[in-house]
Amino acid sequence: MKKDFIFSDVDKLKGVGYQLSKYLKKRKIEKIKDIILNFPYSETDRSKLYKLNELEIGKIQSVKVCVKKLNFPRVRNLPNKINCEDETGKIDIVYFNSREGYLRKLYPINEWIIISGKVNFFNKKYQMTNPDYVTSLQNKDYVIRNIPKYNLTKGINEKKYRAINDQVIKNLPDITDWLNKDFINKNNLLNWNESIKKLHNSKDSKDNLSKSFRRIVFDELCANFLTLSENRKRIKKVKLPKIFSEKRSNDLKKKLQFNLTKSQENVLKEINRDLSSEKRMFRIIQGDVGSGKTIVSLLAIINIIESGYQCAFMSPTEILAKQHYDLTNKIFKNTKIKIDFLTGKIENKKKNEILKNLNTGKTHLLIGTHALFQKKINFKKLGLIVIDEQHKFGVRQRSELAKKGGDNCDVLLMSATPIPRTMMMSLYGDMDISKITEKPAKRKKIITLSKPEKKINQLWPFIKKQINANNQIFWVCPLIEESSFLDYSSAKKKYDLINKIFPNKVGLIHGALDNVEKENILKRFLNKNIYILVSTTVIEVGIDFPNANLIVIENANKFGLAQLHQLRGRVGRGEKQGTCILLFKDGLSKNAIKRIKILKKSDDGFFIAEEDLRLRGFGDLIGYQQSGMKNFRFADPIIHKDLFSLAENYVKNIQYNIDQSKYSFLLKLFDKAEIINSEDI
Ligand code: ADP
Ligand code: MG
Repeated sequence: MKKDFIFSDVDKLKGVGYQLSKYLKKRKIEKIKDIILNFPYSETDRSKLYKLNELEIGKIQSVKVCVKKLNFPRVRNLPNKINCEDETGKIDIVYFNSREGYLRKLYPINEWIIISGKVNFFNKKYQMTNPDYVTSLQNKDYVIRNIPKYNLTKGINEKKYRAINDQVIKNLPDITDWLNKDFINKNNLLNWNESIKKLHNSKDSKDNLSKSFRRIVFDELCANFLTLSENRKRIKKVKLPKIFSEKRSNDLKKKLQFNLTKSQENVLKEINRDLSSEKRMFRIIQGDVGSGKTIVSLLAIINIIESGYQCAFMSPTEILAKQHYDLTNKIFKNTKIKIDFLTGKIENKKKNEILKNLNTGKTHLLIGTHALFQKKINFKKLGLIVIDEQHKFGVRQRSELAKKGGDNCDVLLMSATPIPRTMMMSLYGDMDISKITEKPAKRKKIITLSKPEKKINQLWPFIKKQINANNQIFWVCPLIEESSFLDYSSAKKKYDLINKIFPNKVGLIHGALDNVEKENILKRFLNKNIYILVSTTVIEVGIDFPNANLIVIENANKFGLAQLHQLRGRVGRGEKQGTCILLFKDGLSKNAIKRIKILKKSDDGFFIAEEDLRLRGFGDLIGYQQSGMKNFRFADPIIHKDLFSLAENYVKNIQYNIDQSKYSFLLKLFDKAEIINSEDI
């Protein structure tokens, strides 16, 4: 087989026609290389030949028998039946829909043949219905052995798939390995060709620590990381450096009611260095909830404006965008900075004015939602895009944004989702990372308590005390399933209940409200017209209510640890003590109890993310699913932790522009070739 044949469509294989390739597509097998990567999930043991008196009903067994008689009843619905025997007994082979001519060829009278299939018992006789294999003695070795079992769909049986699979795996082209021998041996891997053969013909594919499996994991990671790192190089193209004195940002710092933490200062330095460098910035600030990312970005924005450029600040939701708009208006008061606010909802007349001011350069800073990136929006001189809570945007969206900004535009992302170290490269391999590792000094640790839901009545006195002390309360309602309607109805019920206990003090906010209604309620909460805000999870992202000091989270075990930590971060942002109460239904699993303990013990988002990963697996990791990146097919960040860092280091040292041809096979194998070759960034 030629190397490139691997990347042809499956219908180039013998015996694969239109219908069969349609079935294969259902199993995501489109190209021949997909067969290579479709490993068996188990094996069927057909390795022993049984005598007929050794058969066990219900088992898959193989026998060597002599064909005695073929019966083709002329009555409808009666099966065709072939009587066979060996020296120890008799068996009937039964077919419901097979043609006579076909069966006569398969079962020559008085000849010994091999049959393998599931053993039944019917009318006091052993029987096999539609056996999996019927073959001559010469062909014995093809059947009497361990046979790999693949996940198949309707229309493809084991025998058929085996014939297809064998064509590929037995004729695997000799691939010049892109890893050298020493590296392979040193890291407990195997060369590529051998790995593929082993994965298809041994138990290796079920053992994700076998050398061959590890090899495929390593390849998968390399292909991913290499693509990200090449992406990064292309995004970080040459640009005009921004020139600024930092005078204005220093003035602003002095006016703040607090000093920046060391971490904030460091991150700001990193950003400023990027802004004034000759390469485009593509950087993400990672910092736990409440670590103060916003102010860092605003200081960067001032510098950009000082250098004569405009900025765009995008938030994932309207509420958040509005809050940022209000905040910037407050912070930039008495400066000449002109700020505008744009969402999809803004009426045309106003919008046209906004667009005009952007175009002429009158507006310095535009804050809003996705609407900022509509086609008709043209900045006069855009110098920086800031994106808040970026995990709501996928990798692809990210690079589209970078493109949208133009050649001289820097990009700054902010995320409150702490990512375990192992996952960093797979999520943010295309970016530079700045971490805010400490929280503002005066901030108190949030007290986290847990309570069974049935004791909910014990909460009312505590809540009353909070209200009397002028503290406000978030009440997050049970996440039921993936149903916003059920979530809504449960929030509504809870609202009614609490409203009876604390009349005129409660508001309800949920996803089905329109934005004006949402904003009204949030305003009433901010102005302390109401004290308790019952909500579905809409408050999860980013909103800053310094007076909210208690959060109650119902059905807390439905949330991931990282998500609970984010919710908890909504309170205790001012000077007062914050409290988080987790309500649970009875009968918690061991795992759930462990999770509560972790939350009670730690308020370190990075630690919590590591634990979340350990306890729930990375498929559940908040931010990961939302990132638009698919799970790895083979790699698991817990089991293959060592390979994640190995691949990361390996990719760092690849000189792709020189060694492109060496890696082209690998990239094609994992469907990365098109991405890495696209000019479109
Ligand atoms: P996040 O990182 O979650 O986006 P914010 O930027 O919303 O956090 O900041 C949370 C709160 O902390 C805000 O009220 C902000 O004014 C305040 N804050 C930010 N930095 C500091 C600091 N160094 N000292 C004290 N308070 C700070
Ligand atoms: Mg924020």
